[in-house]
Amino acid sequence: MAQIKLDELAHAYYPNPTTPADYALKPMDYLWDDGGAYALLGPSGCGKTTLLNIISGLLKPSAGRIQFDGTDVTGMSPEQRNIAQVFQFPVIYDTMTVAQNLAFPLLNRGVDKSEVDKRVIDMLETLDLSAKANRRAQGLTADEKQKISLGRGLVRYDVNAILFDEPLTVIDPQMKWQLRTKLKELHQRFEHTMIYVTHDQTEALTFADKVVVMYEGEVVQIGTPEELFERPGHTFVGYFIGSPGMNILPCNIEGNAAIVEGHRIPLASHYTPPQNAKLELGVRPEFVRFAASTEYGVPVSIDSVDNVGRHRIAKVRLAEHSLNILLTEGQEIPGYNISIVCDPVLSSVYANDHRLEGEPVNRHQSGTAI
Ligand code: ATP
Repeated sequence: MAQIKLDELAHAYYPNPTTPADYALKPMDYLWDDGGAYALLGPSGCGKTTLLNIISGLLKPSAGRIQFDGTDVTGMSPEQRNIAQVFQFPVIYDTMTVAQNLAFPLLNRGVDKSEVDKRVIDMLETLDLSAKANRRAQGLTADEKQKISLGRGLVRYDVNAILFDEPLTVIDPQMKWQLRTKLKELHQRFEHTMIYVTHDQTEALTFADKVVVMYEGEVVQIGTPEELFERPGHTFVGYFIGSPGMNILPCNIEGNAAIVEGHRIPLASHYTPPQNAKLELGVRPEFVRFAASTEYGVPVSIDSVDNVGRHRIAKVRLAEHSLNILLTEGQEIPGYNISIVCDPVLSSVYANDHRLEGEPVNRHQSGTAI
């Protein structure tokens, strides 16, 4: 297991990059913890596979370095880096049995035969493949073959990291859930550094301790699932994570209030945004509610109310802006004088798409702010 450091790392697939758009990965500096479970999450083309392949050694970055536990591995092959990688489609030997497939990476590295047997039996049980241990891989289903692929990565306890590139794409939905849970269990048991690429937020949020959200070749936030949900660091994170995503409204800021279309929305902190920045208020549908008749709220009109499984979503209109509100079970929708209230603590302010940190209001008022 290793701590992984990305040191001014960047990649362009074509020579002489000049503008930021020429980079598949824009320059980045990060330190990822030894034994952490990370998910790289983002839409197609944002650079997830490029970053994963640089970490594994399949691709050499055009700038910067990568270190494992302080050792520069930029020029090393995947074998020298001692990495296990599981791809989207199964990589197994069809003519070998299931058990032989699992044993192969260990025998190849000279692990003692009795240790190999022990680990293979353990992995067969873990993946519910014991009954098929002596079957040739050839006749197995796509799910089973991919389970063997996962097993071939996980059976190597001494690796620096295990990298997964959308490994559950070919797995049926029911089995996906089971395998994700299994991966999490295995992570807790062996404490491997794991990096898991996906464009599926459910997969990322259920697997990872820390989710690395990527957008247009940049890491826009690294955070726990709670942090990404409650304090999205970038408007893209707000929009991409959550269903539906965060409401984002153009605004002005006056101290501890956002002004949206002339209406004052109280905030929990005091903000001093940079001059001439594009300012937006972000608040998730879960943190907006209809105001009680005695309360001051921002007047809106209702466009629609939709059932989405266990919840209902009200779509409301504030001038030309549309907002979603997640309704709690049995919640009444007001018939007239409809207005909304945003939770001030869970509302965020963005300047040029990046979240601003505010100052506590009382500190600001008492003049002790730095
Ligand atoms: P997906 O989820 O579709 O696999 P991704 O987030 O993994 O996408 P990458 O495959 O890393 O994204 O691609 C990042 C950018 O680099 C994209 O614009 C892609 O077109 C480009 N790219 C990827 N591989 C190459 C290549 N071999 N040559 C040139 N450009 C490439």
